[in-house]
Amino acid sequence: MNYLEMDKKSLEQRFEVIKGMYQDFLSANLHLDMSRGKPSAEQLDLTTDLLTAVKSERDCLTQDGTDCRNYGLMDGIPEAKELFAEFLGVTPAEVIVGGNASLSLMYDCVSWGMTHGYLGSTPWSKLDRVKFLCPSPGYDRHFGITESFGIEMIVVPMLEDGPDMDMVEQYVNHDPAVKGIWCVPKYSNPEGKTYSDEVVRRFAALKPAAEDFRIFWDNAYGIHDLYDEGDRLLSILDECKEAGNPNLPFLFGSTSKVSFAGAGVAAMGASEENIAYIKKLMFYQTISADKINQLRHVRYFKNMDGIRAHMKKHAAILRPKFEMTLETMEEYLGGKGIASWIHPRGGYFISFDTLPGCARRTVQLAREAGVALTPAGASYPYGKDPNDTNIRIAPSYPPVKELRLAMELLCVCVEYAALEKLLGEAN
Ligand code: PMP
Repeated sequence: MNYLEMDKKSLEQRFEVIKGMYQDFLSANLHLDMSRGKPSAEQLDLTTDLLTAVKSERDCLTQDGTDCRNYGLMDGIPEAKELFAEFLGVTPAEVIVGGNASLSLMYDCVSWGMTHGYLGSTPWSKLDRVKFLCPSPGYDRHFGITESFGIEMIVVPMLEDGPDMDMVEQYVNHDPAVKGIWCVPKYSNPEGKTYSDEVVRRFAALKPAAEDFRIFWDNAYGIHDLYDEGDRLLSILDECKEAGNPNLPFLFGSTSKVSFAGAGVAAMGASEENIAYIKKLMFYQTISADKINQLRHVRYFKNMDGIRAHMKKHAAILRPKFEMTLETMEEYLGGKGIASWIHPRGGYFISFDTLPGCARRTVQLAREAGVALTPAGASYPYGKDPNDTNIRIAPSYPPVKELRLAMELLCVCVEYAALEKLLGEAN
């Protein structure tokens, strides 16, 4: 029954039941972590053989004869550039294969914008105001990067098929202080939404007021389908070239959730002009990334078909966890009118909305009962969810049995916080 239509007495009776259930969880002494989208040990075990994919010194030569044990090839070994070009949907000349983390590449790109500027433009740090658009809910660490540089962040609502493009166009095309936008275009973090063709084309056709405006296109979940039939995303670089805007996008990706999180290979893609410019800046920063790890990845996966086949094994582990999470929500909260959630077809998260004003309280109740969730508000710039509704659920890490327990507790906490609010309002 919909709680919003229930009388005070029935709500009070239900609250007593829920308090009892919560007490039982408190006594169970749980210690579960669902705070970040980490792969499970079972997923990491899938790539154990990658650890030994380069076996001896004779194995360390690239196809052009470079010894990966030595300095050189700052932008990546040729075979890794080929693989990651396909991974990102660009050409090998449009890619830099980096170290272990795409987030570091994103940080560097924002940092270079601040210190050096892009292709002859004034460094952002010399300007009075610098703004980034932040489609929200979004990825907390994106917002963390821009916040750490003192860049003003503007919330752009996420609609069904991507950010509100009317608002994006309004800002980008008219305000020269807007220098960038954070995008997770496929299976977005946390909502699992994929940008439609129309949204991608509208991005490509932007006419920025700032000549150095860049789209930070973080395709972290580009190949992370949960089902055989995955979502389809247009190539942003192709569309930008077609629209006469080749320098607009910076693309990012990594194998953090393909091979090893934090010990994979990251890459960025951009127009040849952008890549040449970035390589000049990068020259002072590093002599080369870990080429042995790049080589291990190429030897192990061989090509994109190898990676795609591998991702099916991840999906087989993740799918039951996502489905069980969704089933538990339906079982505990369906029809009560106090929560809503999205059914993603890929990625790492389930985005969950409580009644307005209840997300923080829900996360607090869960934490006190031993289940760590991503802090409420984290999916908005400055950690401030204006309605205090959004909770990011990360089902990947715990084993299925623990996940079920954690989800049962979460549902009880959602109901607890909702009843507290409804009864507070009824008083
Ligand atoms: N981008 C998004 C959208 C993510 O969700 C994550 C991981 N949570 C990352 C980037 C981090 O990627 P990497 O490990 O390559 O730094």
